[in-house]
Amino acid sequence: MARKKLVAGNWKMNGLLASKSLLLEISREYGNAACDILVCPPATLINALRGGTIAIGGQDCHWNESGAHTGDISAAMLADAGADAVILGHSERRTDHGETDEMVAKKTEAAWKAGLMAVVCVGETGDERDAGTTLDRIGAQLDASIPDGATGKNLVVAYEPVWAIGTGRIPEMSDIAEVHDFIRSKLKDRFGGDTAEAVRVLYGGSVKPGNAEEIFAVSNVDGALVGGASLKAEDFGGIISAAK
Ligand code: PEP
Repeated sequence: MARKKLVAGNWKMNGLLASKSLLLEISREYGNAACDILVCPPATLINALRGGTIAIGGQDCHWNESGAHTGDISAAMLADAGADAVILGHSERRTDHGETDEMVAKKTEAAWKAGLMAVVCVGETGDERDAGTTLDRIGAQLDASIPDGATGKNLVVAYEPVWAIGTGRIPEMSDIAEVHDFIRSKLKDRFGGDTAEAVRVLYGGSVKPGNAEEIFAVSNVDGALVGGASLKAEDFGGIISAAK
């Protein structure tokens, strides 16, 4: 079954109300692309950016619907603001905020309950790659970060080697293929063939217009999660155009 590619932009802690012009430019220039497009701005901008042709997502959520959690935002709130999706377990959340796989699983359940598509991130550190434990790490993260109940509609997995994020370094294409094939087979063991074939597995880490085509040609790569290059319409558009 052919999976429609997804190009997702993670704006991280970048963007003010004026960034609406960036979204409008992406929508105007690339809105008719062959792939699905998702933009995940800071939560403050979700309501302002909702309603166009491009899907909008959050970058994190709490697992509770409401309550005494100062500074946090719930999946229900993201959905209420107009989000369609949410990135969960990004390595910057895991590193900066001590997020564990178990927390990511609870957040994913909350996202599903709120009707959001969860983009669950996994990835090895440079030390783990050097030690040859990449697949062990990814396997453990998949097992513990994704709750039961995954479908092709509610789950996207993003493979993001931590050492490739924001560094300009990317793995060998054969290494990306090995991890993506492994993720697909893990999904199959756990959720069955139909679901595993429907879930999109994105690659993330220093994707640029110049390397996107080669990455998208790799087995089991169904699109990209893009950080830095999602902040310029031309760069993000170059990646979108490569996703056929
Ligand atoms: C990311 O943070 O998800 C990411 C992939 O960043 P970059 O594209 O800048 O490496």
